[in-house]
Amino acid sequence: MFFRRAREDRAFREAQRAGYELFLQLQAAQPWPDFPEQTAPAPAAEEAVAADFLPPELRVPSRQEVAGLMMRWLQPLIIEDEVRTCPGCGAYRDWIVFCMRDDSVWLRCRAGHETKEPGLDAAWYNRNSGPVERFHPTLEEGLRHLGH
Ligand SMILES: [Zn+2]
Repeated sequence: MFFRRAREDRAFREAQRAGYELFLQLQAAQPWPDFPEQTAPAPAAEEAVAADFLPPELRVPSRQEVAGLMMRWLQPLIIEDEVRTCPGCGAYRDWIVFCMRDDSVWLRCRAGHETKEPGLDAAWYNRNSGPVERFHPTLEEGLRHLGH
């Protein structure tokens, strides 16, 4: 269990590094299954359409373009009747909750410990997250915006 968790943490950090520039916040107001997927036209056509509308920095990234979603969760997080505590420091509230592109959910405590939370999934995230607020080009910017 310990080793598995350590490996997951490492994988998460690597994914973060790899996706650092892409780490954006997208809090979908609608559950993703209802979210109109951009059925892929030829890439060139898509770019041409986008160019007619907004500059790239103002365009809303699609779910496939963001590395993950994030929200702040101030109150204690109760999963299967248990208050979730950080394995690193014992914190039990003021989380940043991440929902990654693979639909895994991760918790980050105030001290920056990140733990995969198998008891939560993208459906839970969608039920509990607010509407889209903004997009962050980096993870750090997102954390700062959310007060961490
Ligand atoms: Zn911690």
